Amino acid sequence: MSRTTVIAIDGPAGTGKSTVARGLATSLGARYLDTGAMYRIVTLSVLRRGVDVGDPAAIAAAVGDVDLAVGHDPGEDRSYLAGEDVSAEIRGDAVTKAVSAVSAVPEVRSRLVALQRALADGPGRVVVEGRDIGTVVLPDADVKIFLTASAEERARRRNDQNVAAGLPDDYAAVLADVQRRDHLDSTRAVSPLCAADDAVVVDTSDMTQDEVIGHLTELVEQKAGATR
Ligand code: C5P
Repeated sequence: MSRTTVIAIDGPAGTGKSTVARGLATSLGARYLDTGAMYRIVTLSVLRRGVDVGDPAAIAAAVGDVDLAVGHDPGEDRSYLAGEDVSAEIRGDAVTKAVSAVSAVPEVRSRLVALQRALADGPGRVVVEGRDIGTVVLPDADVKIFLTASAEERARRRNDQNVAAGLPDDYAAVLADVQRRDHLDSTRAVSPLCAADDAVVVDTSDMTQDEVIGHLTELVEQKAGATR
């Protein structure tokens, strides 16, 4: 029976992680799992229900019955809350501001980690993107990649994306948000953001996304060749 080949991609916001993970999955013909989208769907549900995001006990009580689903196609990954396509709404400002607080709640993490393990399972290859995939969710992943880039470079990229999307040009505010999210994600008690000991760390500051995808495709193919 064929087993799953798991490629874990972790790293902070703004390293180009999502584009790179999707590009890698496409180039490998693999399934794709965006775990950040799952935290965003839970956050949207919490916000819609009027739960106070500063109240971890209320969030913990609400997470059990969030009905969420995510697609596996790297070319067209969609996110659903109770059957409604919320792919655009989960990328909005309100969710982006609240998601770190919601994802720091242990009950949220334990529910989503269990779901992520179940979704990653299956034949063929799967690229799983997140913050704690190589360390916590799938510590036996076949290939672990940790993407980094300087906070300034990540903020510059995000601000450029905002401007391209018609949002205001405000590098200073974006940099402050990147630093705030980095701090929250790396200092939280449960699953703080850090590279696994056996992860390959790739600094994308001076690389194009195509260069990163090419480099990672080679890494995965080398690893597959070495274990055949
Ligand atoms: O990757 P993305 O920016 O969509 O993730 C949104 C948020 O979800 C992150 O800032 C982080 O707080 C949380 N997250 C997490 N663990 C993951 C994936 C995302 O805590 N595996």
